[in-house]
Amino acid sequence: MISVDEALEKILARIDVLEAEESPILGCLGQVLAEDVSSSINIPPLDNSAMDGYALRSADTRGASRKSPRILRVIETVTAGSISRSEVEPGTAIRFMTGAAIPKGADCVVRFEDTDESERQRTSSEIGILTEAKPGLEIRRAGEDITAGSIVLGKGTVIRPAEVGVLASLGRSKVKVIRRPVVAILATGDEVVDIAQPLPEGKIYNSNSYSVAALVLRYGGIPKMLGIASDIEDSLVARLHLGLDADMLITSGGVSFGDYDIVRDVLSKRGEIVFWRVRQKPGKPVVFGVIKERSKGKVKNIPLFGLAGNPVSAMINFELFARPAILKMMGKKSLTKPAVEAVLEGAIENTDGRRIFARAIVEKRGGRYFARLTGPQGSGILTSMSLANGLVIVPEDKPGVKEGDSVQVMMLDWSEEVE
Ligand code: AMP
Ligand code: MG
Repeated sequence: MISVDEALEKILARIDVLEAEESPILGCLGQVLAEDVSSSINIPPLDNSAMDGYALRSADTRGASRKSPRILRVIETVTAGSISRSEVEPGTAIRFMTGAAIPKGADCVVRFEDTDESERQRTSSEIGILTEAKPGLEIRRAGEDITAGSIVLGKGTVIRPAEVGVLASLGRSKVKVIRRPVVAILATGDEVVDIAQPLPEGKIYNSNSYSVAALVLRYGGIPKMLGIASDIEDSLVARLHLGLDADMLITSGGVSFGDYDIVRDVLSKRGEIVFWRVRQKPGKPVVFGVIKERSKGKVKNIPLFGLAGNPVSAMINFELFARPAILKMMGKKSLTKPAVEAVLEGAIENTDGRRIFARAIVEKRGGRYFARLTGPQGSGILTSMSLANGLVIVPEDKPGVKEGDSVQVMMLDWSEEVE
């Protein structure tokens, strides 16, 4: 049996980065840029006002104060987006809105609060300036954010909301990104029933396909539901066929020792098993391999993750193995989940040298993280995953961890409550 780390290494060696495609900017959140994006324009395009106020010559404000205002003649009002053709001569000012381009002659903007505008009639054609202003005051320079000709976002950048905004500021509606993988998801088991059906006695609903599909979505992939295969090899093969156009196949169940554990049989006949069983708890019976699909004279290797059937095991197998594979396909470099060091409240025994992933609730108190178990840790108790925000890791070479020990916790999510 191999370790979690060896398993991940073997997986990543079989995963290639997918091709690039053009995507509308709002569709590519979380994707990796496949081109250098440069700007053909300056942003802002012109020197403009950072404040609502008056554009004027700073020299005209010398000695100005609340007690002795400098009175200037107002020659025009300019709104944002419009350009004044007037020139600000000595002794004059232009009333200005934020974002409007600085007119000829002016070298600063004095905000409304530093004028006597509020004390004047609306019709007044004069303004009193109440403070001295330095050249450049409240002026945003052309190109101060982005200079024309420069590369603004480099190839390999992960698109977040800020990058979507930057792309929009350049007038880009589409951009080249590494495409999202399509992940085909198949449940196995004679006992498993689709959630749209009534539940016969002795059967259980197919939760795995849904938790897995949600994980695929969370990490940026496109799930393709293949339904449920029975415990007969032909049924599995027929269903898997519907997923051969996908970039990745994920099954759940049918991988432990037993009469009906058929995923490995199919893998060994139609491809290659890379590994089966990992020294971890839960999720030991996970299998990974590639299905070899011949199409148009070429052989396509489709990675297949045969996740353990128990609902918690399936999710943890996914987080450990399928998640980094999806991220690598998407061109990401950072593949590890964030982890924190926490003080354990409770104890966990490790009896058979596996790496344990225990569902835990992590909280920050007095500047330190504390982790307590969610309760019973059976691999069928899916609500334990719902309660947990992290997985306490007990290393394979440790007989256990006890109350007060410092432990590593892999964070499943990072909600505000952790902070
Ligand atoms: P197996 O590895 O196929 O023996 O499955 C192990 C356990 O996981 C069994 O108790 C199954 O009932 C349960 N299980 C398998 N597949 C699913 C599924 N799609 N949804 C929920 N539970 C499942
Ligand atoms: Mg089964």
